[in-house]
Amino acid sequence: MATIYYDDDANPEVLRSETVAVLAYGNQGRSQALNLRDSGLNVIVGNIEDEYRERARSEGFEVFPIAEAAERANVLLLLTPDEVMPEVYDKDVAPYLREGDLLDFASGYNVAFDLIRPPEGIDVVLVAPRMIGPGVRDTYVSGEGYPSFVSVHQDGTGRARERLLSLARALGSTRAGCIEMSMHDEASLDLFTEQAFGPAFGRVLTSAVETLVNAGYPPEAVLLELFLSGELAYSFEKGREVGMAAQHEYHSHTSQYGTITRAAKFMELGPSISAVMEEVLEGIRSGAFAKEWSTNRDEKLQLLEKAKEIRDGHHMARWEDATRRAFRIGDARGD
Ligand code: NDP
Repeated sequence: MATIYYDDDANPEVLRSETVAVLAYGNQGRSQALNLRDSGLNVIVGNIEDEYRERARSEGFEVFPIAEAAERANVLLLLTPDEVMPEVYDKDVAPYLREGDLLDFASGYNVAFDLIRPPEGIDVVLVAPRMIGPGVRDTYVSGEGYPSFVSVHQDGTGRARERLLSLARALGSTRAGCIEMSMHDEASLDLFTEQAFGPAFGRVLTSAVETLVNAGYPPEAVLLELFLSGELAYSFEKGREVGMAAQHEYHSHTSQYGTITRAAKFMELGPSISAVMEEVLEGIRSGAFAKEWSTNRDEKLQLLEKAKEIRDGHHMARWEDATRRAFRIGDARGD
């Protein structure tokens, strides 16, 4: 069974006398800095010269260049985007680490795949929110909290666990629950969702759209039916609340009978999907993906831009735009 920590497992006093530096005031950085300050910790911000620096200042933080903030603090939250983190770490963080410092990551990626190697004598921990940045703040304010994956990667002080849990509590995450997981496992699960579950789900959706449009149904009606009406998202939300099987009870008997009896026809696809997923997972766990993505970065970014161009020119994207405009959905409302 997994170990899960809640508020009662954490002592809120442990980090009270320490100085916490939030390094980069972006999606996660802003929300985490505000939560920590509201939990009574002494928080400073490290940020490059950009609009985020001004935002941090206007929201009442003392802001310094990243290297200076790293030098001033003994609890450091490294919250730049993952792809620039090794460079920022080498230049602006590593030279200022002192014995006894606590270095926290919101994603295990760089440490797990050996792109960042923290020195001995410091605590290295993970508090990886399963929540986007604005949600980290909103659920702190609402009192609900948000779940995270947490771990002690290196215990340099002998107090790493109590410091980790105190940090997770001040961030508002032990309120919902923090599940213990190594950095390598956290990063692997995250990448698997992006590289296997996401594309497989996308392929199923595209097949459904193509089947119906080829059968003569208007693309707008098809996209509305499949996901743009919001019914699918609502059903998933209900599935989250009561369980996927139980949410079936909210659907008609015709729907339930059709879903259950026709599910068998798709069963035979299972092993071939699992085989591709296993191959993707192996590429993640072995570090092959991390190596690929960190080698010849400029070439990879060009490839990414090209792939996005093709995606945006695909008929699915055009149909989606037309449907969202026709039904004034989301930011296509025009108000
Ligand atoms: P952001 O994309 O919001 O970027 C964070 C900040 O880093 C921005 O202020 C950005 O400034 C700054 N930055 C960009 N490049 C550099 C650089 N070269 N040197 C210094 N600062 C730089 O990051 P996120 O908040 O999304 O991600 C931070 C961490 O949180 C990552 O480890 C990520 O994996 C993790 N995480 C993110 C989640 C999310 O939902 N976003 C969820 C869970 C974990 P500018 O824009 O001006 O370049």
